[in-house]
Amino acid sequence: MLKFRTICGSLKLLSIRRTSTAPAASPNVRRLEYKPIKKVMVANRGEIAIRVFRACTELGIRTVAVYSEQDTGQMHRQKADEAYLIGRGLAPVQAYLHIPDIIKVAKENNVDAVHPGYGFLSERADFAQACQDAGVRFIGPSPEVVRKMGDKVEARAIAIAAGVPVVPGTDAPITSLHEAHEFSNTYGFPIIFKAAYGGGGRGMRVVHSYEELEENYTRAYSEALAAFGNGALFVEKFIEKPRHIEVQILGDQYGNILHLYERDCSIQRRHQKVVEIAPAAHLDPQLRTRLTSDSVKLAKQVGYENAGTVEFLVDKHGKHYFIEVNSRLQVEHTVTEEITDVDLVHAQIHVAEGRSLPDLGLRQENIRINGCAIQCRVTTEDPARSFQPDTGRIEVFRSGEGMGIRLDNASAFQGAVISPHYDSLLVKVIAHGKDHPTAATKMSRALAEFRVRGVKTNIPFLQNVLNNQQFLGGTVDTQFIDENPELFQLRPAQNRAQKLLYYLGHIMVNGPTTPIPVKASPSSADPIVPAVPIGPPPAGFRDILLREGPEGFARAVRNHQGLLLMDTTFRDAHQSLLATRVRTHDLKKISPYVAHNFNKLFSIENWGGATFDVAMRFLYECPWRRLQELRELIPNIPFQMLLRGANAVGYTNYPDNVVFKFCEVAKENGMDVFRVFDSLNYLPNLLLGMEAVGSAGGVVEAAISYTGDVADPSRTKYSLQYYMDLAEELVRAGTHILCIKDMAGLLKPAACTMLVSSLRDRFPDLPLHIHTHDTSGAGVAAMLACAQAGADVVDVASDSMSGMTSQPSMGALVACTRGTPLDTGVPLERVFDYSEYWEGARGLYAAFDCTATMKSGNSDVYENEIPGGQYTNLHFQAKALKDVKGQIGAPMPGKVIDIKVAAGDKVAKGQPLCVLSAMKMETVVTSPMEGTVRKVHVTTDMTLEGDDLILEIE
Ligand code: ADP
Ligand code: ADP
Ligand code: MG
Repeated sequence: MLKFRTICGSLKLLSIRRTSTAPAASPNVRRLEYKPIKKVMVANRGEIAIRVFRACTELGIRTVAVYSEQDTGQMHRQKADEAYLIGRGLAPVQAYLHIPDIIKVAKENNVDAVHPGYGFLSERADFAQACQDAGVRFIGPSPEVVRKMGDKVEARAIAIAAGVPVVPGTDAPITSLHEAHEFSNTYGFPIIFKAAYGGGGRGMRVVHSYEELEENYTRAYSEALAAFGNGALFVEKFIEKPRHIEVQILGDQYGNILHLYERDCSIQRRHQKVVEIAPAAHLDPQLRTRLTSDSVKLAKQVGYENAGTVEFLVDKHGKHYFIEVNSRLQVEHTVTEEITDVDLVHAQIHVAEGRSLPDLGLRQENIRINGCAIQCRVTTEDPARSFQPDTGRIEVFRSGEGMGIRLDNASAFQGAVISPHYDSLLVKVIAHGKDHPTAATKMSRALAEFRVRGVKTNIPFLQNVLNNQQFLGGTVDTQFIDENPELFQLRPAQNRAQKLLYYLGHIMVNGPTTPIPVKASPSSADPIVPAVPIGPPPAGFRDILLREGPEGFARAVRNHQGLLLMDTTFRDAHQSLLATRVRTHDLKKISPYVAHNFNKLFSIENWGGATFDVAMRFLYECPWRRLQELRELIPNIPFQMLLRGANAVGYTNYPDNVVFKFCEVAKENGMDVFRVFDSLNYLPNLLLGMEAVGSAGGVVEAAISYTGDVADPSRTKYSLQYYMDLAEELVRAGTHILCIKDMAGLLKPAACTMLVSSLRDRFPDLPLHIHTHDTSGAGVAAMLACAQAGADVVDVASDSMSGMTSQPSMGALVACTRGTPLDTGVPLERVFDYSEYWEGARGLYAAFDCTATMKSGNSDVYENEIPGGQYTNLHFQAKALKDVKGQIGAPMPGKVIDIKVAAGDKVAKGQPLCVLSAMKMETVVTSPMEGTVRKVHVTTDMTLEGDDLILEIE
């Protein structure tokens, strides 16, 4: 840092008596005396107000803020010694433009000087004049100079008079389209319409051809009128791909002018600066000299005092053209400060006090460029939505800081509210390093460190700019952003921590998002995972399948001596007991144990059916990843899934090619055996699924849905002949294995014997696989009967996940067949450890456990014939109904009332019913009659669906 603060301090007295070092250029504004400033008001807000307050505080000057009603909570108010409300009742921006109010506050509070910042009143000559008239110093040029520079046409004229090259353009505002025509006739296209009183890149329109002329003229005019209250336009030749290079100047009351070198502000979006760099990279030293000396010349021409910026465009050939003077502090003044070590705001204040530049130690020969500085304007604009300003509360704010980083900001902190009322600058990040690459690296690093959540920022876009090769190369032109669409390829933040916090907060305040009718808490104990030996698991049936294909596999199954088991714990068991809520996490933990100890299993049912629905709607898991991960852990035992024919794993008929592709991908990801079923035994649906599995190379296990009681003539809906005929069709269609899928658990031992032995006789070589539910408690007996009648495979679940609406117990089947010709070969003591694991795991899902409402098996299933998974759900719904019934309230128009239907419910005629199951929600039906629900028929395997729901009302 240049030591001029201390120098200034000691010079204070001296400088009162010192005479000016140069004659005054414009006598009407010269004060030529030193009058210390004791109190400064900033007629502005946000970061620039704070920037000025900081400088004042450093100089021992008292600070005054003004704020609009909307800015009551803004930080600039806090950072000043005093703060006053202005523009009561006015629109937000209008408050800061209300000159009488601002002057009044200044007068009432003994303010010596007003700093206008940038924007708002900073370039308004009437404001500078009003300050002067009120005896308050305006920290900036004289009103006359502000006026001249504010009018771009007049500024051009002054530049021309000073011998500074300007872009070819009209000498006065044009008043008709005709003049624009004439101009383009002389200079050709492209041309640019510019607002004579414009700023901030607004009111500008580039025109490439005659055809576009009229429309752009009209638009530019109305834009200028709306933005600046004056529609005056002038025309310039549009310079193609120029660099925007501007020179910082400082002048004092004594006619001394110096420059602080240049800034490259070519990185612009819609003519607005986004990233600014000082000094301009690879700038020809002679061009630099021309730019700086022209700037000084121009400033001298008008008697420029205080800080200002002379803006130029430099074309491809290195020719420079003056475009405008900004008679104020620029947003990007910071980069100049960084490379010159001159505090521009200090200098502004001192000059306004009447100090001369030499007194301040500011001589041209002392101003040196030290390294490179880059500024990024971080805004609360969403680059993904064409830089729309975003508003809201900043939930997380962490900034990039550290060596070489300067942050100028106002409302960048956690809890800050970003309002839509003002411009969206959030923080200026300034990086300083020894050269352009070093500064760029620091900037990239700092931007990467930023975490702003709650409002969107343009940081991802800025990062793309910072990583761009052309940018890193140092020279870009003003069309850089437009010509590099890849800058808009943004990497969205995953925002994991915030999402997690939201989720947890939501759950804590509002409770679980999915209907959980019971309040049981999950157990806090981790399930015990039994040890597994090192090394690969022993070979299993999957090795045969991989070696010999589906047919060889089917043969091996049929030729196997003992009874084979399929373990449903990984899917159907937890569907029946725990509403399918078990996460991959708990499946994976026990998988190595299963692979090492249960290689004798026919298969593990671990996928399909409701897996997709639940994984995506409740678990937020990827079902494919589940399959891949389990496959990796269990390479030796075949995996089995449930495929709902043409419905695949969804709840609707899919186009055939979807089903085919699905099977193909499932097979690729590790699926082996596909149980293809249709709850209504609708053959075309079954055949489609079988064909899809077959062409994917999977094992086809066509399933016959079983219902009624084939052995009880008085109850038989479907006769033995019905099942035999259907089996015939499926075998003819080429199934590798035939399954009897008893979804409700209605197969009684006598029926098993009858059905299985008939099938066995008819198809001696076909593997038979039986699935049931233990709802009535007769499941083990039924499966033993099947085995004795010649079934090859029966479905079981780990003991602690068996019984009731789930499958019969694995341990029971293993123990009951041990030592008999049907011996499963599964070690019983391993079954115990397995069961213990699941007992622990099941405790984690207490809130979904059917035992909350169901304490035992129930033989009424033979009457109601409700499928296992469904039975559990309906139990939940009935319970939930009891809990919420009182809160339903009167029906409101347009509102669907949630009524969970269960047998015994009373419904009124015309009453909308919303059926809610744990699996599938919201099927709205209007009850056609009133009465009490006698029976709820559900005909799908697992969930309630509109079409499948029949209410019988009495
Ligand atoms: P503002 O007052 O809005 O800052 P400027 O006159 O400084 O307006 O121009 C802003 C930007 O617009 C320039 O930096 C440049 O990118 C573009 N621009 C202005 N005039 C021309 C021109 N004649 N040819 C090409 N680009 C121009
Ligand atoms: P993401 O990659 O999910 O967008 P970030 O890049 O913001 O997340 O953050 C990466 C890591 O930073 C997170 O995994 C977390 O450890 C931490 N983190 C992010 N946001 C917060 C936060 N709001 N509070 C605490 N730590 C956070
Ligand atoms: Mg400009």
